[in-house]
Parts: sequence; structure tokens; C-alpha cells
Amino acid sequence: MKKVVLLGSTGSIGTSTIKVVRDLPGRFQLVGLAAGGNLDLLREQTREFLPRVIGINDPAKAAELKADSSLKSRVVCGSDGLVELATLPEANIVLIAIVGTAGLLPALAAIRAGKDIAIASKEILVMAGEIVMAEARRHGVKVLAVDSEHSAIFQCLDGKPPESIRNLWLTASGGPFRKTPKSEFPGITVERALKHPSWNMGRKITLDSATLFNKGLEMIEARWLFDVGMDRVKVVVHPQSIVHSMVEFVDGSLIAQLSSPDMCLPIQYALTYPERVVSSRVQTSLAQIGQLTFEAPDEDRFPALSLARQAGTVGGTLPAVLNAANEVAVEAFCLGRIRFDQIPEVVGQTMGRHQVIESPSLDEILAADAWARGCATNS
Ligand code: NDP
Repeated sequence: MKKVVLLGSTGSIGTSTIKVVRDLPGRFQLVGLAAGGNLDLLREQTREFLPRVIGINDPAKAAELKADSSLKSRVVCGSDGLVELATLPEANIVLIAIVGTAGLLPALAAIRAGKDIAIASKEILVMAGEIVMAEARRHGVKVLAVDSEHSAIFQCLDGKPPESIRNLWLTASGGPFRKTPKSEFPGITVERALKHPSWNMGRKITLDSATLFNKGLEMIEARWLFDVGMDRVKVVVHPQSIVHSMVEFVDGSLIAQLSSPDMCLPIQYALTYPERVVSSRVQTSLAQIGQLTFEAPDEDRFPALSLARQAGTVGGTLPAVLNAANEVAVEAFCLGRIRFDQIPEVVGQTMGRHQVIESPSLDEILAADAWARGCATNS
């Protein structure tokens, strides 16, 4: 039995991970769970899986859980609690699915404690990809991708070295505004931006899919996970979301991974790797799908892609700045403080004002993140 810690168990990826654990009885034991604030669902999950330790971000809710005598799990709280969960002695793998930057320190702690990590939270590699991958190499642990695109690339590469890659092709659905004229962008509402055509995901990633910042973050994530320069990380729009990404090898061969869109598949593969395990959850009928189409992304309507390419190419603290400024801008859009088309403007302006630090330490990355939040809030 693989012993799993699941950080972000109440979110979209977290609940899909729970489905995978239920699908494969006897294969995984959830030894630790953590949530942000959804006490009721965390309590339900605790009753079902009896993890040894559970964590919740909110101290008042942690006190409530501690007072519940029907729960046998130890309760931890806040960021220290996440680190404690990520380093539980019995855990073999830590799956990190916390939205935002709170997953970074637990990811590093898990690696340093010799645990394999499965990463859904793309912020971790965007902010500190160089440090995280170097630590993973030093401690001999695996960094497994949960994001469907990176899982696809990992499956296509099948252990081939970076020198065998001509290009990595990340596919993008194009989001809800793939065909929307630029002139309509200022009037886009939060409600419209939350209607993703093919994936059912958490709120922040859904909004990032509408601006294509999600794809931008994934480009930087891919650069670190697969150790290739940004010039070899490409994006192609594929509205059906069946081809999850592709590797173009140096000999010109393109290898793709296909399936109907369901996050349970990449989650399962990350947890069972290197094994493939029987599951009937995902079924794909290409005859029913009929057509797979591809088109170039429109970088004029979606400047997120070129901003991400710039951040990934310059490196240092700039990707952390892009990520933080985007988080602030998305929040401001949700609160009605800025328009949809101003999200990339805020990010671009914040990046333009940043003094990049090359090869930063973790503290310098966290300082750049804090600086960018202040700068983006006031822009
Ligand atoms: P959701 O918003 O659905 O869930 C976020 C999870 O994080 C919730 O469980 C939330 O808890 C928890 N959380 C937030 N803050 C804290 C904290 N400080 N401590 C502990 N837990 C916390 O997001 P998603 O599941 O959609 O996304 C999670 C990550 O995975 C993101 O980085 C996203 O980019 C990435 N990802 C998501 C995909 C998807 O299909 N959804 C696909 C690929 C990547 P609570 O609900 O209790 O507040």
C-alpha cells in the first residue's frame, strides 16, 4: 500500500484524487489530508479514510476539529501544519493540490524528507522550479506531474533525455474566448470567464484558462520539469482537449497522449507510476469525437503567452513576479476592480518594474512574490 499525503483534499484536484483512491481499493492509504477552510468536507473525508494527521489553514476551524471527539486524527494548522503533513514519516508520496503559493514550502520539505512529490500546484515550479528540481535530484526523489499536459509529456517522453526533444507541444483548449473578438474583451464578466468549454476545475485555474495565463504558467512548469529551454516549449490550440500534449522528437516524430478529459487519469498515473493500473473511469471513443483540430494561438488577444515566455526566458525572480501579479489581477477582476483585458496589463506592468535577481535563493523568490503583490495591487 502506497501511503499518500494529500494537500488540498477539498478542492477540484483533491476530490478527484479521492475518487482515484476509492477506484483502487487496497492500493493507497491516505495518511494525511489538508484543506484551506472547508471544514465539513475535510471532516467527511477524515471519517471515511481515517488519516493519522489532518490540517486546516484556519486556526478557529482547527480548534473545532480538535474538539470533535468522534475524530481520531491529530489536527495541525496553518503553514507549519502543511510542512508537518508533508514530512510525515510514514508517507511515501505527497500530492500537492493547494491553489496559490502555499504549496511551495511543503513541497521542498517533502523532498528534503525523501518523499516523492506529485505536483498539481503549478505555482511551485513556476516560482522555484530550479531550486525544487535541484533539491529533488540531490535527494533522489521523483517529481511527478499531475497537470494533464505535463503528465502527457512525461508519458510521451518515457524516459528519453532532453537532448532527444526538438519541441514540447502543450495543447490549450483556447478557453471560452477562443473566438471572441478583442473588441469584446473589456466587457467580459467573471461569470462568462468561469464557463470553461472542456474542463471542470477550481475558480482560479478556470479564470487563468480564459486569459491563457494557465498555459503560460504551464510553459514555465514544463521548462523545469523536462529541463528544456523556453524556446523549445510551444503551444498549440486544440479545442477538443483530447490530445493532452505532445513531444516532437529530434528525428521529427511527434508522440501524443490522448484521452477524454478527466483529471483522474493523470492523478492515477502520478500515484501508480511506473505501473499502469486497470481503471474503467476514463473511456475515449475517437469515432464519436470525430475530429481533432489544431490552430496557432493568437498572442495579440492573449498576451499571457508572450509574457510567460519572457518570464521563463529571463528566469530568476521574474516567473514568481508574473505568477504573483497574475494572482492579484485575477482577484481584482473577480472583485470588479479591473476589466478582463486589464489582467495581462497589470502583469506586464509589474514585470516591467521588477529588478530581476538571477539564480535567486528561496528567500529572494518569496521577497519578489511579496513585492509583486504590492506593486500589482497599486498599479
Ligand atoms: P481549488 O480551488 O478547487 O482547490 C484548492 C484547494 O486548496 C482546496 O482544497 C483548498 O481548501 C486548498 N487550500 C487553499 N489554501 C490552502 C492552505 N493555505 N492550506 C491548505 N489547503 C489550502 O483548486 P484546484 O483543485 O482547481 O487547483 C489546485 C492546484 O492544482 C492549482 O495550483 C491549479 O493550478 C492546479 N491544477 C488544477 C487542475 C484542475 O483540473 N483543477 C489541473 C491542473 C492543475 P478549501 O477548499 O478547504 O478552502
